[in-house]
Amino acid sequence: RAMGQENEVRAGEVVVEPPSPTDAGLVFVGRVRTPWRTRAEAPRQGQPDGPVCRLEIFDPWKPALQGLERYESIEVIYWLHLSRRDIVRQVPKSSGSSHGTFALRSPVRPNPIGTSIVKLVGIEGSTVLVRGLDCLDETPLLDIKPIRCQFASAPKGDGETG
Ligand code: SAM
Repeated sequence: RAMGQENEVRAGEVVVEPPSPTDAGLVFVGRVRTPWRTRAEAPRQGQPDGPVCRLEIFDPWKPALQGLERYESIEVIYWLHLSRRDIVRQVPKSSGSSHGTFALRSPVRPNPIGTSIVKLVGIEGSTVLVRGLDCLDETPLLDIKPIRCQFASAPKGDGETG
């Protein structure tokens, strides 16, 4: 679908005049490479058996991947850069009724942050291979965090906290 239609306001939705965005000081640490070129093509939520996607980490952050290979699952946090940011009540296509933005996982939100828990497939240099994403190709990457409550939790005594 054309980009204009993807930002359309549906019957029953409520748009507000948001404050001007301010710079929260985020830096994009990489970009996400996926097979999806349009929002309509991307899955609503990633699936563990979905296609392998790539997190391309920018300089100077490659050393920040050290130790990530120990984990089976990781959390990927990304910036849904094409989203509107001014809708407080939305009508998801799937439901047809109106819901508050904070009661949805819609990409349309005041700060369009997306998160997915994905399977770690491998790490090749500064590229992390994962399954289970739902974002468009070239989506900016904000952060990666390990899922530590699963089988590959941090070994005792390695000094890791937090
Ligand atoms: N898994 C994340 C979450 O729950 O926070 C995102 C869920 S959101 C429903 C996923 C949808 O966002 C995709 O189906 C696609 O329509 C849309 N989307 C994906 N990448 C986007 C981007 N870079 N900018 C705007 N919308 C995007």
